[in-house]
Amino acid sequence: MAQFPQATFLTSAWQPHQFPADDGAEVAFAGRSNAGKSSALNALVGRKDLARTSKTPGRTQLINFFALSPPSRLVDLPGYGYAKVPQQMQRHWRELLTGYVRSRVSLAGMVIVVDARRGLTDYDRQLLDLMSGTAQPVHLLLTKADKLNRNEAAATLRDVNGQLSERASVQLFSAISGDGLDQLRRTVLAMLNRGSGKKEPR
Ligand code: GDP
Repeated sequence: MAQFPQATFLTSAWQPHQFPADDGAEVAFAGRSNAGKSSALNALVGRKDLARTSKTPGRTQLINFFALSPPSRLVDLPGYGYAKVPQQMQRHWRELLTGYVRSRVSLAGMVIVVDARRGLTDYDRQLLDLMSGTAQPVHLLLTKADKLNRNEAAATLRDVNGQLSERASVQLFSAISGDGLDQLRRTVLAMLNRGSGKKEPR
């Protein structure tokens, strides 16, 4: 399995001026609340608790940055779209997120985490639209695949692929079984290597 560098929590940002220096390369993870983003991030870096930082009260609305081996980072974007949050706060997230994607030079790609049983939501489509304004790749992670049987999984993959029309790559994933983990690691590493100007491993 592809090796993944160690990750440590770096900082949280509620305003763009709190973002870490915009150098090197970073891959951002996004997705609707409860899609399975934290579980995917934890599986990716091989730690049970990394993304728990992003889930502590007060941090769920922040952009959370994790340091990998320099100059690479992972970024956990807030999963807005949950009804229980005041509108004013949702507006702030949207602006923070939009500003981040549009202006972040080191953003080398995005992984959008989607519950495979639900398929693409409006929020995921908004993220795709936002990313289409950048030149950076998008990878769709259809997670909780362990909850689907083989036929359902294949049908979901086909269906989502059809809806995307090559705007993003797609894969099935399960944080529980580890299925798809190697593909996720390779994809994120390729994005980081490309973003930091390194040659991709063959
Ligand atoms: P987040 O809000 O997007 O960060 O979602 P979490 O990672 O906290 O996951 C939300 C819920 O889905 C939790 O109850 C997880 O245990 C569950 N979950 C996450 N990934 C998987 C998976 O691959 N398979 C299954 N069966 N459950 C998962």
